[in-house]
Amino acid sequence: MKRRRFLTTLAAAPAVLAAQQGPPEFAPVTRETAAAAPRIGVNHFGFLPEAAKTAVVRGQEGPAEFTVWDVGAWRPVLRGRLRPVASDFGPAQLADFSRLRQPGLYQLSLGAGDHEHSPERSVPFFIAADVWRRTLPTVVGYYRYQRCGVAVPGVHDACHLDDARRRDTGEHVDTTGGWHDAGDLRKWMDTTMLNAVALLQLRRCLAAPRPGDPSGEALLEEARHGNTFFLKMQDRDGRVWHDVAGGLNGDNSDNHWTDNVTGTADDRFLNPEKTEQTAAIFTALQALAAREFASADPAYAARTLAASRRAWNGSSRRGSTAATAWWALAAAEWIGATGEPEFHAEGRRLAAELLARQQAGYAYDQSHVRGYWMDGAAPFVDIVNSAAPALALLALHDALPRAPERRAWLAAVQTYLEDYVRPLAARNAYGIVPTGLYTAPLSDETYRPLAGSLLYRYFLPVRRQFWWQGANCHLAAHALLLARFAAAAAGSAREEYRALAYRQLEWIAGANPFGASQITGLGVRQPYPHSRFVGLIPGGIMNGIAGNAADQPVLDRELRLDWRTCEYWSPHVAYYLWAVAALESLRG
Ligand SMILES: [Zn+2]
Repeated sequence: MKRRRFLTTLAAAPAVLAAQQGPPEFAPVTRETAAAAPRIGVNHFGFLPEAAKTAVVRGQEGPAEFTVWDVGAWRPVLRGRLRPVASDFGPAQLADFSRLRQPGLYQLSLGAGDHEHSPERSVPFFIAADVWRRTLPTVVGYYRYQRCGVAVPGVHDACHLDDARRRDTGEHVDTTGGWHDAGDLRKWMDTTMLNAVALLQLRRCLAAPRPGDPSGEALLEEARHGNTFFLKMQDRDGRVWHDVAGGLNGDNSDNHWTDNVTGTADDRFLNPEKTEQTAAIFTALQALAAREFASADPAYAARTLAASRRAWNGSSRRGSTAATAWWALAAAEWIGATGEPEFHAEGRRLAAELLARQQAGYAYDQSHVRGYWMDGAAPFVDIVNSAAPALALLALHDALPRAPERRAWLAAVQTYLEDYVRPLAARNAYGIVPTGLYTAPLSDETYRPLAGSLLYRYFLPVRRQFWWQGANCHLAAHALLLARFAAAAAGSAREEYRALAYRQLEWIAGANPFGASQITGLGVRQPYPHSRFVGLIPGGIMNGIAGNAADQPVLDRELRLDWRTCEYWSPHVAYYLWAVAALESLRG
């Protein structure tokens, strides 16, 4: 991902960075582990009546039983025994109360005694049919706060009307609009385009909206706000510029409000670099927009389809694993949009390229895991795009019902889930998927032995480079992938994939070693976000729990404004929305 490469360069110039960024970016590395946190980790939003329901209790001391209380009736409704489990994050116990299906508001306490004298009580949680769906309006609402180029009443005045001047020539190019990407004011294409993808996918998945859902019109309007900027970022050759205000020399110097007057010293810069990955995401987004706007605004749909075709024709459609996956996703959208034979053939070529990048055998002297993706000679580690190769194969599987290879595409995704995702997720009590595999340590810190010469970390290495952070987007993207694959599975397998999908989201929603929700306004015990210009944003999702050198979880709950764990970021919000939408579509 470009932002990562960009920030990697910062490590070499910390003095420059300190001068330009000020203290918040240099907040001390988060030190706080879960030692002082609550022991009970349960999803604060709650559970669907039919879903598996678990809470994780850190440690194995204290009571061997738990009690679930109906808070409304103020009475105990279920008692059970805690089940000790081994976990990579230390000894733990599981409370399984899946058999409780009656809708209501509940609370779990440790022990079999009364509520008042329990050594610890959980955050109250609902059992209800809409516990996830009811979060959608709040999380969609996050994007309005992040709008650039317009006034957002109660948040900020019209901003950055002077974006931007080219880094290379100094020429002014109207690139106003879009969304601020994170807890800052910068506008990265690769990541903010995911917002529009998610809004349009949400509209697609919620084909039959219910009262309380974001309306299809509102989703199109928000997507169009962002897309107006994205369309301005396409150069005459069809290719797409990289960012506005990303910083001039890998620094944070463009991260400020401006006077809105073009040609003055505070104008921000447009980075005219053009990469395959940016073009691939742009092409997929514009084809998706063409399909979702087709009935509401045919002229706009035709415009986005034309932009998509120019980007498609202007690129080689070759590159990294992430770029290849996004080209494959673009091909699948085009097949749905027009059915032109060129896209069938190119979709099949791109799928073959993805299969060639999958480690299908038990490599590295072990017979435990396989099916993960490679990027060159190393396993693919990319917290934003980690699920994209498998998502792309599923998209092509759906788009090309007569392709002879489609069974092989589905089998490749199944191998990834069965022989990589599930065995790794089973190694911790919370069921989360680690961020990646390594074939050798890349820095002087813990890389957990897996089997043979394979190593893994739940969290990005912290001593390898300046840039590391929490990866809620990686978890939400896997929730999406598991939901998408569950749609193609049957019987108990379908339910198991679905349950594992929810566990990725539950970590974000409070089922974690800190017992903390990581979404502002939903659940409790959130840290204050690293959001230096507009403060709290309801529905904003933080980078989330990261790791220390020992690969144990850390989270800044001490108001250091630590960006690594607490900064808002587009990919988390985007994949959360898309995942919840896909899970809701499974429910019919
Ligand atoms: Zn702005």
